[in-house]
Amino acid sequence: MKHVDAAVIGGGILGCFTARNLRQWSISTLLIEKEDDVCREISKANSAIVYAGYDNKPGSLKAEMTVRGNANMEKLCAELEVPFDRCGSMMVSFGEKGEQTLRKKLEQGRANGVPGLELLTGEEARAREPMLSENVTAALYSSTTGTVNPWQLGIAAYENALQNGCEAWLGTAVTAITREEEGYRIDTDREPIRCKYIINCAGMYADWVQAMVHPVPVELILNGSDYIVLDSRARKPRHILFQERENGKGLTVVPCVEGNLLLDSPARPLGQPWAVSAGGLEKIHALAPQLLPELELEMTIRSFGAVRPNPRSADGKNLPDYCIETPAPDFLSFIGIKTPGLTCADELGRYAAETCAEYLHAEKAPAFDPRRRAIPAMKEDPDWYEIVCRCGNVTKGQIREAIARGALTVDAVKRRVGSGMGRCQGSRCTLKIEKLLEEYRHGAL
Ligand SMILES: Cc1cc2nc3c(=O)[nH]c(=O)nc-3n(C[C@H](O)[C@H](O)[C@H](O)COP(=O)(O)OP(=O)(O)OC[C@H]3O[C@@H](n4cnc5c(N)ncnc54)[C@H](O)[C@@H]3O)c2cc1C
Repeated sequence: MKHVDAAVIGGGILGCFTARNLRQWSISTLLIEKEDDVCREISKANSAIVYAGYDNKPGSLKAEMTVRGNANMEKLCAELEVPFDRCGSMMVSFGEKGEQTLRKKLEQGRANGVPGLELLTGEEARAREPMLSENVTAALYSSTTGTVNPWQLGIAAYENALQNGCEAWLGTAVTAITREEEGYRIDTDREPIRCKYIINCAGMYADWVQAMVHPVPVELILNGSDYIVLDSRARKPRHILFQERENGKGLTVVPCVEGNLLLDSPARPLGQPWAVSAGGLEKIHALAPQLLPELELEMTIRSFGAVRPNPRSADGKNLPDYCIETPAPDFLSFIGIKTPGLTCADELGRYAAETCAEYLHAEKAPAFDPRRRAIPAMKEDPDWYEIVCRCGNVTKGQIREAIARGALTVDAVKRRVGSGMGRCQGSRCTLKIEKLLEEYRHGAL
C-alpha cells in the first residue's frame, strides 16, 4: 500500500500543473495517469492559444484566471524554458451582425481589464494583416493574445514537478475510490494507494472518477473538432485569427510557435473520439478562402481530431464558468475544463494546490525550484551533430535526452523534441527513433 498526502488523478496539463503547484507546499504528491505519457488526451489536441480574456463573462473565474494566466505566461514559459509567442490576434467580421459581436467583446474585455484591445476597420486590419480577405469589414485586435505549444508546456510542468519530488505512476488507471475514516483508498491496476486528499484532473472522465465516491451534479457531453496543419513553408498570417460569421464562430487560424499553421473548424457532434471527420475538413476548406483567399491549403501536412467536454447542469444547460466541484472538503474535481484551460492551467493548478494546502495545514516548501531546463538544441557531443529528423533538424543527442527524460514511444519523443512534425510526418525518421528506443530498452543507448 502506497501512502501520500495528495493524489492527482490524471496527467493532462491540469494534472501536471496541479502536481507542480502542490510541490510548492510540503505535500507529498503522487500523479496517477492511465496512459504511458502525460498530456495524451484533451491536452494533446487543442488550438494552442493563450487567450487574452475578452471572451469571458465579467466577474467569472474564467475571466479572472484568463487575464492573470495571460499576463503571467512570459514568466511561466521563461521558468520552464518553453517557447511562447505573443503574436496578437484579430477577431474579424464580415458585416454589421459580426461587428456587433466585436463591440460586445471589446466592452467585455475592458470590463475584464484586458489590455491592448482595439477595434479596427477592414482597411486598418488589412494594413496589419495583408493576407486578410477584402470582405473583412472590421476586426477586434488584441495585442496580448499569444501561442504556446500545449503539450510542451504540460510536459515541462510535469518534469519540474518530478524535479521537486513529485512521484508519478504512468500507465496506471484508477479503478475505484473508497472513503476511509481519514482520507481515501484508491485502487488502481497497480498497487492501492491511501491518501488524505484527492484532486481529480481526469479530463473527459472526471465525472466518472468523482462518481466512484461522491455524487456528480453535472453531466459531461462530448463533442468534437477537426484541425489541419500546414507546412512551415506555407504563407502564414502574422496574427491568430478568429472568424466571426453571421451565423456564429467560423475558422480559427494559429501561426504556431514551431512555424506550422493550424486551422481549427467549428465544433461538431463527436462521432469516434479523436477521429478526424470528413465534414469538419470540408468545412475548413470552405471557410478558409473566405478569410484568407491566398492560403495554400495544398501545403497541408496532417489533420487530427479533438474532443471537447461540455459540463451541463441537471436541467441541461451548458455551464458558463469553470466547473470546479468540491463534494467533500478533501476532494476537488476539475470537471471538463475546456477553453481556455491551457491559458489557465497554472492558475487552476495553483487554486487546487492552495485549497489542498489549506485543508492539510501545509507549510510552503522553501526548497521548491521553479526552473526546468529544456532539452538543448546543441551540445559539444557527437550525437548532437547527427541529424535523425531531417525536416525538423532534430539530432540523435536530443532524442537520446528525451528518452532519458522518460519518453518511451516514438510519439513521446516527438512531443518532446518535435521529430516527425515536419512535411514528411516521420516517414524518414520513425524507424531510426524506434531503433534508438530499442537500444535504450536493451541498455545500449
Ligand atoms: C478542441 C479544443 C481546443 C482548445 N483550445 C484551447 C486553446 O487554444 N487555448 C486554451 O487556453 N485552451 C484550449 N482548450 C482547453 C484545454 O485544452 C483544456 O482545458 C485542457 O487541455 C484540459 O486538460 P485536462 O488536464 O483537464 O484534460 P486531459 O488532457 O484530457 O487530461 C486528463 C487525463 O486524465 C487521465 N485519466 C482519465 N481517467 C483516468 C483514470 N481513471 N485513471 C488515471 N488517469 C485517468 C487521461 O488519460 C488524461 O491524460 C481547448 C480544448 C479543446 C477540447
